[in-house]
Amino acid sequence: MILTSLLLASRLVIQTQDTLTPAAHRALDDINYLAADAREGRGVGTRGLEEAGQYLAAAFRKIGLAPGGAARSYFQTFTIAPDAPVAIRTNAGGKTIRNVIGVLRGRSRARRGQVIVVGAHYDHLGPGGFGALDDPDSTGKVHNGADDNASGTTALLEVARRLVQRPLDRSVVFIAFSGEELGALGSDYYVKHATVPVESIAAMLNMDMVGRLRNAKLIVSGAATAREFPALLDSLNHAAGEPRFDLRASGDGWGPSDQASFYAVKRPVLHFFTDLHGDYHRSTDDADKINIVGLEQVADYIADVATALAERPGKLTFVDAPPHQASTGGAGYGAYLGTIPDMSESPGGVRISGTRSGSPAERAGIVAGDIITAIGAKVVANLYDMTDALRSHQPGDTVVIVVQRDTTKLQLTAILSRRGS
Ligand SMILES: [Zn+2]
Repeated sequence: MILTSLLLASRLVIQTQDTLTPAAHRALDDINYLAADAREGRGVGTRGLEEAGQYLAAAFRKIGLAPGGAARSYFQTFTIAPDAPVAIRTNAGGKTIRNVIGVLRGRSRARRGQVIVVGAHYDHLGPGGFGALDDPDSTGKVHNGADDNASGTTALLEVARRLVQRPLDRSVVFIAFSGEELGALGSDYYVKHATVPVESIAAMLNMDMVGRLRNAKLIVSGAATAREFPALLDSLNHAAGEPRFDLRASGDGWGPSDQASFYAVKRPVLHFFTDLHGDYHRSTDDADKINIVGLEQVADYIADVATALAERPGKLTFVDAPPHQASTGGAGYGAYLGTIPDMSESPGGVRISGTRSGSPAERAGIVAGDIITAIGAKVVANLYDMTDALRSHQPGDTVVIVVQRDTTKLQLTAILSRRGS
């Protein structure tokens, strides 16, 4: 059923070039540049990632944003520590990467010291391998990451182009983050070495995977991180009468992307997301599958949210939540593991085709090809058993997952979390 609905939906997003607005054409140019094979999948250490950074800095300048990086440049450059956790699993240790930062200064003397951060990561998986979900033999193929996250980066430029039209009270800092796929390295670095005091960040809006709008469904996680967010998001969604999106706004700020770095320093955050699809973290996440009209609609909406946040007189009321908070929604929804099941038959268990980045499954060491045969005390013979087993647990529970890997039976330990949406 999942596969069928994905196929049907992808047919709906096909659009002909001549019906596009000039803004959509411009966005298409951006995404085609960022997600071209020549950018080498924007992996850390590639020339393609460097070129993408240069392209974004040039775009920020053309749009009219002031340089927000070091020494009056658009770049905030840093080196991945050779002993960072990710360096043990990849060859990223010692490599230099950079965030690209542009500033739109606020017009209100009283409020321009407060900033709204609008961000999106521009790195992706390069040739696959670490973080990728394909078969091992597609490692080496360029992973273009058109939706993840050339789409958010393109939307970042589109939001900036909208906001420069009219000065706002608060300042807006636009950041294209690097190193997200290796564990939100760029945003983590930014909050620890911010070019503005972290306390002055009134809110952070993150766009990660906004290029596959289907049936107008827009997920906004982090809506519970400020008391004012739900009403604000809802009213802007209905600003023109008919709802713009089938909006799913909820949750804390601990999702697996850059907003979590800002939530960790107690800033209200929102993450905009047009949902997962079968090309996620695979070499097939290409620009021809992007719904550019949908991306424009999402950029319009985020520009409206950023404007409202930059102009509202008062401050937001931050709502804290601990990581891996126990579910308060009662039984039934269950806990989150973050595996991507292989839909083909696998006798005696559930074969896994991959794990979601940053998920409990990934942290537990579950890898593509593993067959899950038990979760905690429950035997897992099929997907239904697996769903039942997860339902019987609460987020925060530590469980032993039994997997068959080739001829070996392994016992892995996972700390279950809460479903992101
Ligand atoms: Zn990703």
